[in-house]
Amino acid sequence: KKAENQILVIFGASGDLTHRKLLPALFELYSRDLLPEKFQVIGAARTPQSTDEFRNKQQAFISEVLKISDYSQLSKLADFLQLVNYIDFDTDDAKQYQILKEKIIFLEKEYNIPDNIIYYLATPPAMYDIIPINLQKCGMNVSLSGGSRKIIIEKPFGYDLESAQRLNHLLESTFHESEIFRIDHYLGKETVQNILVLRFSNGIFEPLWNRNYIDSIEIISTETLGVENRGKYYDIVGALRDMVQNHLMQLIAFIAMEPPATFDPESIRDEIAKVFKALHVYSPEERVHNIIRGQYMEGNIDEKKVIGYRREKNVAPNSNTETYIAMKLMIDNWRWGGIPFFIYTGKRLKEKRTEIIIHFKSTPQQFFIGQCSGSSCNQLIIKVQPDESISLKFGLKIPGAGFEVKQVSMDFKYNTLSEEKLPDAYERLLLDAMLGDSTLFSRNDALEASWKFIDPIEEEWKKHPSKDLCYYKAGSTGPTIISNFREQTFRYIRNECELPIQNE
Ligand code: NAP
Repeated sequence: KKAENQILVIFGASGDLTHRKLLPALFELYSRDLLPEKFQVIGAARTPQSTDEFRNKQQAFISEVLKISDYSQLSKLADFLQLVNYIDFDTDDAKQYQILKEKIIFLEKEYNIPDNIIYYLATPPAMYDIIPINLQKCGMNVSLSGGSRKIIIEKPFGYDLESAQRLNHLLESTFHESEIFRIDHYLGKETVQNILVLRFSNGIFEPLWNRNYIDSIEIISTETLGVENRGKYYDIVGALRDMVQNHLMQLIAFIAMEPPATFDPESIRDEIAKVFKALHVYSPEERVHNIIRGQYMEGNIDEKKVIGYRREKNVAPNSNTETYIAMKLMIDNWRWGGIPFFIYTGKRLKEKRTEIIIHFKSTPQQFFIGQCSGSSCNQLIIKVQPDESISLKFGLKIPGAGFEVKQVSMDFKYNTLSEEKLPDAYERLLLDAMLGDSTLFSRNDALEASWKFIDPIEEEWKKHPSKDLCYYKAGSTGPTIISNFREQTFRYIRNECELPIQNE
């Protein structure tokens, strides 16, 4: 399905997100003939450059990101870049939006495009407050000729409940909620969308998908990268806000939500919001036993020495920001009451992987010796990245005498479904936003409910900045205490973390 003819305005077009993700994704859509019939992109930022200079730079970036070298692809890329324009003006200054307005009017006339405009804010979050207001001041947030307006914003959607509410209020005073698309690129991943299909198109899983048959759920999202060039942003935000509040909570919602009444965006988003509202908010006493935070020290990644977090560029030398989180979440509702959801996420860890492991309860009696016992016998593993796959683990008899059990795996790999490489998350999300389908975008009430869960944790850490912060070596599997986390020996864990550990 193709979206209506429209113009896409990217604010912050000279930045990293635009050249690494947005324009490569648009080029892929162009190559698959999924862009609107009549379509133009306007990149806007303050850096002075001509459209030709911008196109040349993007040509180099996109071919590097997508590893394009053959002639036909390069010529297709050159054709695509003819749709891309650039204007420079100070996005802080409402008076200068006339430059954008004139460009839009010119392109609409030149290419016979109706007045449908989608704005993408790929700018620093400070601009999320300013750009919508400036668009409103210039009358660019509404169409006088019955065209459409949409606005896409990137995370972070606030840094606590109050700022998220302020941002929601501001956005809703300039655009209608149905025109606002809060992008979380995890929801653009095929593997994540497939959670919904796995659950709601297969009768075999539904009867098991509850506290009666599931023992626990683990969500693991680790990376080998450090903070790279995002030190300034990350040191304020930390892993809880950067990963848990958005990406990992979205994964939890897809796993935990009730079947929606119908498969339309609002019904699905109603169910997501209900999950966040049912999250158990820990008291300070409970929190001590259920959340562990860590920070990486110097270590080795792929046999190369890497520096510790506190020595990263733009990070305070005495920073207590967490780069690792292990936490147990409980969902206080009928489906999940008493079933723990364990989250593990961190930077500079041994491997890059995101996966969800559903542990099923064991049989009431164990007849057989061998590998299959307890909740580790029957698992459904959804590998989100890399090597996207779904595996079901269960026990079978080893051939020969006796009844010795071995755990075996039934594996589905995505490349058996389609030989084509999986589309990048931004391709799917940009297309959905252009189509006006908000299923995979966060809604204001869900967002605010997620902050209500996160805020008390952050508030306590603010009061006790270094208390209970554990350290781990870069390239390791995280703080050493984590091996005991599932067994819930948290008191012991705490003591270990409270030892005065020398960080470098
Ligand atoms: P970036 O590389 O710093 O680019 C931001 C762009 O915004 C700059 O090129 C800058 O261009 C422009 N800008 C406009 N007004 C500005 C102002 N008043 N001060 C500073 N810059 C201004 O950032 P990014 O990595 O592309 O990220 C953009 C947004 O996406 C951020 O909110 C980030 O949190 C979010 N995000 C990024 C990624 C990613 O992979 N990069 C992933 C998830 C979320 P001019 O200086 O030319 O105006």
